[in-house]
Amino acid sequence: MALDRNSSPNDLSAFWMPFTANRQFKAAPRMLVGAEGMYYRTADGRQVLDGTAGLWCCNAGHCRPKITEAVQKQVAELDYAPAFQMGHPKAFELASALRDMAPEGMEHVFFTNSGSESVETALKIAIAYHRARGEGARTRLIGRERGYHGVNFGGISVGGIGPNRKMFGSLLTGVDHLPHTHLPDQNAFTRGQPEHGANLADDLERLVALHGADTIAAVIVEPMSGSTGVLLPPKGYLERLREITKKHGILLIFDEVITGFGRLGSSFAAEHFGVLPDLMTTAKGLTNGVIPMGAVLTTAGVHDAFMQGPEHMIEFFHGYTYSGNPIASAAGLATLETYREEGLFENAAALAPYWEEALHSLKGLPHVIDIRNMGLIGAVELEPIAGEPTKRAFTAFLNAFEKDLMIRTTGDIIAMSPPLMINKAQIDELFGKLTDVLKALD
Ligand code: PMP
Repeated sequence: MALDRNSSPNDLSAFWMPFTANRQFKAAPRMLVGAEGMYYRTADGRQVLDGTAGLWCCNAGHCRPKITEAVQKQVAELDYAPAFQMGHPKAFELASALRDMAPEGMEHVFFTNSGSESVETALKIAIAYHRARGEGARTRLIGRERGYHGVNFGGISVGGIGPNRKMFGSLLTGVDHLPHTHLPDQNAFTRGQPEHGANLADDLERLVALHGADTIAAVIVEPMSGSTGVLLPPKGYLERLREITKKHGILLIFDEVITGFGRLGSSFAAEHFGVLPDLMTTAKGLTNGVIPMGAVLTTAGVHDAFMQGPEHMIEFFHGYTYSGNPIASAAGLATLETYREEGLFENAAALAPYWEEALHSLKGLPHVIDIRNMGLIGAVELEPIAGEPTKRAFTAFLNAFEKDLMIRTTGDIIAMSPPLMINKAQIDELFGKLTDVLKALD
């Protein structure tokens, strides 16, 4: 055992960081050592305004006492219990609480440990569902360009973000993609849902004509795309997608890993847009990011196809060692209670117009070519520097951090999604700092 290798706290060599160029990071590490409410604390004692709720997940804000205490209590009482042929009360309680929070019609909950696992689980449920109903030829999966569905093989296959796919070869077969809905010529600077683009959903009819509906298992989309840089669904688009999928017996999966838990001012995007999918994937805000956990929600129709299907399909041959983990379940219950007790989704809805106004006041600043928003989420798209895409936004990210503001960038898009406990003064602080950053860009 090499425990005596004398690693110093300043040794950054061992951790191979995700989605990070290690060499660049090591040159100027950005270390967070504490957090409370709306702010992170850095090693040098600065308070950094969290404009992104961590990675779109700390919707209730940081180190909230109720959640912290629930985790502490649970870890001392029952640290781990398997969910295979065994149970513990908290997982059942959380499943019921989640069902009660979800749009009517979502009846059953399958626990995972992340958004990526929720996506894999939902895709497998979709394929097995058709098999249980005697339609085993329905295996084709349809995603969308620019979609982000995590990083596992199913997720990057149905996902539509080039850089996430190109290192990994041919991926899953039998996958197609709908066109993305970003139409900057027609929709730039739209507040909320854009007017143009509902007809892009009709592309699904083309895929049905090409392959036959009886080969298609499911369509998966983010009801509002987050990670690609906040793309709102055009008015009527989701309704059209629902109509076409229903007509052809294709399951519709909403990936609500970002849009769930109040981000748009409602519990879920499905509720916000008034469109009920057959399955929903969630994670992130389910436990406020405190303990890894995800969940897939399904309608009774999907679940019952297994329960009433052939004998060998009553048991779903899928699950994780940590599915419904007691500590994660305790964190989830305390998180959902915090959302409810503090009225955080209502706060997001009430502040959305103020947020929108502040965000759109950035129009006219140098290099700003589009602004998009809904609920407490927003994006500012910058004109890329020729030959150096991503450089301008990444510079903004670095400079914002120097000004004690955390934002996120993807390509040349700046994305913001603060904890839902934010207030007007903090919104002013956020956009004041961002304005300074944007004004100073080349
Ligand atoms: N789906 C969506 C829509 C996401 O935004 C994300 C994460 N940003 C994921 C899936 C993957 O979640 P995780 O990183 O927890 O695996």
